[in-house]
Amino acid sequence: MAEATGSGGYDLHTHSVFSDGTMRPGEIAREAAELGLAGFALTDHDTVDGWEEAREAARAVGVDFLPGIEITTKHNGRSRHLLGYGIDPAAGELFEALAEVRSSRLGRAREMVRRLSANYAITWDAVVGEEDARTVGRPHIADALVAAGYFADRSTAFAEILHPRSPYYLGTYAIETVEAIRLVNAAGGAAALAHPAAFRQRTPTSARELREIAAAGLWAVELEHPENRADWVPALVETASELGLAVTGSSDYHGAGKPNRLGQHTTAPALVERLRERVATPR
Ligand code: AMP
Ligand code: FE
Ligand code: FE
Ligand code: ZN
Repeated sequence: MAEATGSGGYDLHTHSVFSDGTMRPGEIAREAAELGLAGFALTDHDTVDGWEEAREAARAVGVDFLPGIEITTKHNGRSRHLLGYGIDPAAGELFEALAEVRSSRLGRAREMVRRLSANYAITWDAVVGEEDARTVGRPHIADALVAAGYFADRSTAFAEILHPRSPYYLGTYAIETVEAIRLVNAAGGAAALAHPAAFRQRTPTSARELREIAAAGLWAVELEHPENRADWVPALVETASELGLAVTGSSDYHGAGKPNRLGQHTTAPALVERLRERVATPR
């Protein structure tokens, strides 16, 4: 079961500068150690490029590291994020699909910046800077708008002009959730459905959708997450239990990019041990 207290548990969902977090993987490892976490998973959007730094820093400070990723997927046409743990970084099919996702993200962000530049003085360079190796997304556009003085912080930029109903908004290519689960499993990993009851979604993942997604070979569902709505969670807890899915807790830490605090929700070490037993790359 997931736990609400940080100390001694694992935070299974964090983002670094390799996607839209503001901390380096090594800084997350050091903060995890300071908080007394048993360990953490780095789950950058659509990339595993931060693993090496996270792994080395975790070893140096004596916390456990679990390699992970958060994949941009969709089910029934709606955006659904899928966490993959312990995947083999040499798995060709999965990484070809991820390269397509990242490349679509680049084109989409460029077009959003082009649209925005009609009314806001921002440039592509200000959005990607020198870090074009990271997975680019709306948070980086938000940061450029904040740096240019238009908005106080990321959240305000999202609320005002980066939300899906904004004229500046464009969707991006997403893998079908069930196909992404197949790819994660084929890569020796374990898949967890991220924040299925997040308040930002127009509708939560329904019990029926959770059954459809679980049938593809889902391992767990992230039911303890700062953005899950308390009134949407109970129906999913019941379905998860009926389907025999594991339940995880995590923070979705983005450093200064979101209010979520590292270790805000955690997962018990015993469940992480079971997870390690089923995956190809346990550390
Ligand atoms: P994208 O994948 O480019 O569509 O951007 C989605 C990402 O933006 C999510 O992974 C969140 O980390 C971040 N995000 C979404 N809404 C907000 C918000 N209101 N404030 C800050 N970050 C947000
Ligand atoms: Fe994010
Ligand atoms: Fe997410
Ligand atoms: Zn996330």
